[in-house]
Amino acid sequence: RTALMASKNLLLLAGDGIGPEAMAEVKKLIAAMNDKLGSDFVTDEGLVGGCAYDAHGAAISDADMAKAMAADAVLFGAVGGPKWDAVPYEVRPEAGLLRLRKDMELFANLRPAICYPALAASSSLKQEVVEGLDILIVRELTGGVYFGEPKQIVDLGNGQKRGIDTQVYDTFEIERISGVAFELARTRKNHVTSMEKRNVMKSGVLWNEVVTQTHKARYADVKLDHMLADAGGMQLVRWPKQFDVIVTDNLFGDMLSDIAAMLTGSIGMLPSASLGAPDAKTKKRKALYEPVHGSAPDISGKGIANPIAMIASFAMCLRYSFGMVAEADKLEAAIAAVLDDGLRTKDILSEGMTEVGTVQMGDAIIAKF
Ligand code: ATP
Ligand code: MG
Repeated sequence: RTALMASKNLLLLAGDGIGPEAMAEVKKLIAAMNDKLGSDFVTDEGLVGGCAYDAHGAAISDADMAKAMAADAVLFGAVGGPKWDAVPYEVRPEAGLLRLRKDMELFANLRPAICYPALAASSSLKQEVVEGLDILIVRELTGGVYFGEPKQIVDLGNGQKRGIDTQVYDTFEIERISGVAFELARTRKNHVTSMEKRNVMKSGVLWNEVVTQTHKARYADVKLDHMLADAGGMQLVRWPKQFDVIVTDNLFGDMLSDIAAMLTGSIGMLPSASLGAPDAKTKKRKALYEPVHGSAPDISGKGIANPIAMIASFAMCLRYSFGMVAEADKLEAAIAAVLDDGLRTKDILSEGMTEVGTVQMGDAIIAKF
C-alpha cells in the first residue's frame, strides 16, 4: 500500500477511434521505462467517450471519474465518432472530456507549438519563420465567454431573436492563470506576452490590470509584454519566434492556439496539457494530458495514425506532473531523432521520406529513448 502511494499513478483513458491506437504506443513506452529505467509508474485504465456510453450509458462513469480525481495524472486519447452522432446531447462522447475538465477544475490549458527541425521545410510557412520554433500558449479554460451568464437566446417577439453570451472574468481567475504562465516562463525563456482586447472589452481592461499586478507582486524577474489579441494573431503568423509564453483568455486562446498549431505541421504532432490548482496539502496539481487531434474516424483501425501527439503529451506529463525534466527532454529528443532519420507517418509524409505505421513509429521512438 505504501509502495503504491509513493509510486506515480496514471489513469489511461484511451477513448475512441485512434485514441486507443495512439495510447498503445504510450503504454509500451511506460512499460519500457518501468523495465529498463526502474521508473515506478502504476497505470489503471478507464472508459471515456463513445465506448463509455456503449458500456454504461454515460460518457464517463462515476467510478472512472473518481479514479481520475485520485490519479496523479490522466492520459486522455480522443473521443467521438459517427457511431455516436445520434446519442442524446448530455451523454455525447465530448461530455466525458467536459466533465473531466469541470470536476478536476482544469483551468489552465497548455498548448506548445514546436517545430521539429526535420519538418521545418514542409511547414505551410517559410522555413526561416518556423525553424527552431518553440512557444507555449497558456489558455484560460474554465471561464470567459464560453461559460459567463447570461447565456441564452431571447425571443424579442417581433420575429427577431437575440443570442447572448457574456464574457466574465474575476480577479482570482486572471491571477491564477497568469501565475501558471509566469511559473512556466521561468523554466523556459523567461518571457510572457499577455493578450486581450482592453481597447474594446472591460474584461480585457481587468485582465491587463491583474496580469500587471501579479507580475509586479510575484514575478518581476520575468519579462512581460502586453499585446492586443488581434495584433497577436498577426504577429504569431508573421514572426512567431518573438514569443515564448503567451497567456490569454478562453476565446482568444482557442483561436490563437489553433493558429499556432498550423505553424508546426500536422495536427498529429501536437500535444496539450490541462492543469488545475495545486492541492492545499500535497501542492500537486491535478492534470490531464491529451493530443490536440480528435478521434480521426476516417483513419481509425488502419494502423496509420501518428502517435507523436500522444507520446509528446506523455512527455509533458513527465515534465509538469512528475518534474522528470531530463526524461521529458530525452523523449522529445527521441521524437526529433526519429524524424531526422526520415521516418514519417502518412500525415507528415514528404518526398524521399520513409513511410511507417503507428506501431513502427512508436517502436522507433522508444528505441531512441
Ligand atoms: P474532433 O471533433 O474530435 O476534433 P475532427 O474530425 O474535427 O475531430 P480530428 O479527429 O483531429 O478532427 O481529425 C482531423 C483530420 O486530421 C482527419 O482527417 C484525421 O484523419 C487527421 N488526423 C487527426 N489526428 C491524426 C493523427 N494522429 N495522425 C494522422 N492523422 C490525423
Ligand atoms: Mg475538431
